[in-house]
Amino acid sequence: MVSESPALIELEGIRRRYGGEDGSPEVEVLRGVSLRIQAGEFVAIVGASGSGKSTLMNILGCLDRPSAGRYRFASRDVAGFDADQLAWLRREAFGFVFQGYHLIATESARENVEIPALYAGLPAERRRERAVALLQRLGLGERLDHRPNQLSGGQQQRVSIARALMNGGRIILADEPTGALDSHSGKEVMALLNELADAGHTVILITHDRDVAAQARRVIEIRDGEVVSDSGSQVPARALPSPDLAEAGRDHGVSPWSELGEVARSAWRVMWQNRFRTALTLLGIVIGVASVIVMLAVGLGTKDRVVARMASMGATIMYLSGRQPPEGGPAGVVTLEDLDAVAGLPEVRAAMPVIGDPAMVRYGNVARSVYTFSSSEEMPRIHHWPVAVGRFFSAAEDKAMAPVVVLGHKAREQFFPGIANPLGLQLLIKDSPFEVIGVMSEKGADSGAEDYDEMVFIPYRAGRVRVFQALTHPDYSVIDAASSSQVLAAEAAIRELLETRHGRQDFGIGNAAAKLLAEAETQDSMTLMLGLIAAVSLLVGGIGVMNVMLMTVRERTREIGIRMATGARRRDILHQFLGEALLVTVTGGSAGVLLGIVAGLLLVASGVPLVFSLSAMLIAFTSAAATGLLFGWLPARTAAALDPVVALSME
Ligand code: ADP
Ligand code: MG
Repeated sequence: MVSESPALIELEGIRRRYGGEDGSPEVEVLRGVSLRIQAGEFVAIVGASGSGKSTLMNILGCLDRPSAGRYRFASRDVAGFDADQLAWLRREAFGFVFQGYHLIATESARENVEIPALYAGLPAERRRERAVALLQRLGLGERLDHRPNQLSGGQQQRVSIARALMNGGRIILADEPTGALDSHSGKEVMALLNELADAGHTVILITHDRDVAAQARRVIEIRDGEVVSDSGSQVPARALPSPDLAEAGRDHGVSPWSELGEVARSAWRVMWQNRFRTALTLLGIVIGVASVIVMLAVGLGTKDRVVARMASMGATIMYLSGRQPPEGGPAGVVTLEDLDAVAGLPEVRAAMPVIGDPAMVRYGNVARSVYTFSSSEEMPRIHHWPVAVGRFFSAAEDKAMAPVVVLGHKAREQFFPGIANPLGLQLLIKDSPFEVIGVMSEKGADSGAEDYDEMVFIPYRAGRVRVFQALTHPDYSVIDAASSSQVLAAEAAIRELLETRHGRQDFGIGNAAAKLLAEAETQDSMTLMLGLIAAVSLLVGGIGVMNVMLMTVRERTREIGIRMATGARRRDILHQFLGEALLVTVTGGSAGVLLGIVAGLLLVASGVPLVFSLSAMLIAFTSAAATGLLFGWLPARTAAALDPVVALSME
């Protein structure tokens, strides 16, 4: 009766051992099983619990490899197939029906049925149509969108039969398919298997129940890992053609675009179903990204303010005045001649003498004590402060002791309210008449020098002669270095020059520029520190993603097994979990950028100087995405490397 034609499935001396390697006792579960099954046969493998039936089925279905022996499928030795080719074979040739149904709990009945076709690369439209048609044929047309936990056991088993048929199901491998069902549902499932056998499907039914086995057309009995009886093979009336094994190497599987859509869809669903946990993980990333953006913006803003103040006060300015020398004795005097010598140094652009003191200023019946600033014509240039109306006095006017005055912005308002043009009017300073020739522009409250707006400015020599008669030398002098990089060199040169001229160190130099530069540098290191703190919080966020991904992989090991049994390649599993990690971090990163901008705008509204930097946002976002990828990739790789049998047996 045994057919001479090559069988679809040929097992020769198949052995399967467990344990041994890691010190656990070695058990041989299959002890030399030889079998030939023709295409189109309906075979029952029967045996007591623990006799090795499931182990045999896992080997038949290419979920597991034998320890020894030969498995030829359509005359090809399966031992030569790599993991991806085995995935192809499972997808094209086999359909599994398990005692515990093995449906993915988070997907609907229709989506569960679609999975094998998804990995075969069938377009979404046709996948859907076929899944619906199969479910309707199995009497579940009304239950398409139900989740497994909303279905009875019998209904779940019919969903899993529909899934087994999705890619054709040429060989149906059913492991105790009725084991968990009531007798009525069990009968229905057996009737279905009979129908499929009649339609030409090869059906291999595994059961411990002799009555169930008796419904098959051939019964093989297995005991302690050995075949003890076989009712014999018959040539079936009809059989579906077996898959073309030459295709295995040319498997394209899922097309990249439909895969991307599918990965995004299922990643979104998983994220949504675990939204509380995901939200907490996201929070880490969101805070990390937002703090990187805000901290850097605060740092840059503060630095900008220091730089602005430097520009307004002059980054090149030093103050020079007479002082008691350290060894004692009278305080020194810096004379106009000293200043001429200082101005002659190559590192110095200008040296400006200053006498400044309050003096009584009068116009009409307005009289008040005003700080009167007498200096050279260099004042506007040294303080980077332009004249708004009229002009400043000249060097010639200073030499000639000309009685002219330039008003600060506020001084003009105080003495000439309602007068459109004060130029040419006479102001009395300590009873001497001075002609108004200009008004300075407004310094304003932001400059740190708003006091200047209340002053009046007169030539140094006119001040000395007409206002401050008692004072014959400058109160102090302002030195303007040739450039900001020459400030320190200028200070050293001035010290040397004056020490030679005076014979002792009876003067002091206040270097405001150097102080400002130091302040700007402190600000730089502050920004760096804030940035580091923010980067650490981003890293903590990344570790959160890794933690969640590890948990997800552990929780969903069985799902991974189901996907592999229905034909997913390792790469498909890797992409799925990587997609989930990426979705979490990209969502978190975007939310972080938004939060950073909103928090920044709030700070700006409350007066904190901020400078947003696009590169900081890009860096924060990409590092979030990169940490997500890295920390998602490790667990995803672990998931993809799982053995299908191991993953399936996980609780
Ligand atoms: P059946 O399906 O016939 O009840 P199984 O094939 O599931 O039997 O198991 C057969 C024997 O192999 C059992 O004794 C079981 O304990 C052992 N076994 C199955 N899987 C493993 C494994 N992964 N590691 C060690 N022993 C195993
Ligand atoms: Mg079993």
